[in-house]
Amino acid sequence: MSAAATPNPAADDTVLRLRGVRKSYNVGTPVETEVLHGIDLALGAHEFVALIGPSGSGKSTLLNLMGLLERPTAGQLVIDGHDTGALDDTALTRLRGHTIGFVFQYHHLLPAFTALENVLLPSIIEHGVATDDDEARAVELLARVGLAQALSKRPGELSGGMQQRVAIARALARSPRLILADEPTGNLDTASADAVFELLRSFNREHGSACLIVTHDPRLAARCDRIIELVDGRIVGEQQHPTHPETLP
Ligand code: ADP
Ligand code: MG
Repeated sequence: MSAAATPNPAADDTVLRLRGVRKSYNVGTPVETEVLHGIDLALGAHEFVALIGPSGSGKSTLLNLMGLLERPTAGQLVIDGHDTGALDDTALTRLRGHTIGFVFQYHHLLPAFTALENVLLPSIIEHGVATDDDEARAVELLARVGLAQALSKRPGELSGGMQQRVAIARALARSPRLILADEPTGNLDTASADAVFELLRSFNREHGSACLIVTHDPRLAARCDRIIELVDGRIVGEQQHPTHPETLP
């Protein structure tokens, strides 16, 4: 087994921990700008957390760091017990593949491939082929997101909400310990947004995957376990259990 596939026993229940994380763009140039100014944050397994904040406050930058798509300029980022600063790009890619499911605001599906093929792509990229098990799981997930009839449809033949549900099935295909979703419902109507949110919520409950979701929708944020607010690259507020789920309509 690869190091990234084996949970580190020292990791306890914390899936993600940031200490003093900073991010600057255009480092070493006259327009160097720091957009994250020392972020401290921990996310436990089973947690379902909303990240809110004004446009430009650094939410996507923070998610991209957590998703190992970019590296911090300073600070420590520990995922599933692995101190990511010590890992080379190959090890980071492996850790990302085994541990993280990322859902983008724009779904990033490949237009030439069917819904099923898009969900299988992460397995194909890593192993060169998708096994029968991979395929069975992909079919099951697509059925779960209400797309059993759309397996062989290409993204262009699907509505925006359906495309986003394919992207979520893709993110969940390898049962990630950590789900990062950057405004996954930002382009959706209320009904589709609710369906996408509930899908992530049920996966979090059933598999104990920690989930961090960026949202502008106060209705959805209120249904998370915790709300973290980012302003100008700093965490300015945290709210625990803003609303008990059972009290919601
Ligand atoms: P949010 O997702 O909260 O809207 P972002 O993380 O996208 O915020 O952006 C935070 C700040 O970082 C913004 O000022 C943005 O212009 C800047 N920024 C984001 N990505 C880059 C980049 N690749 N190069 C330079 N500046 C960037
Ligand atoms: Mg953003």
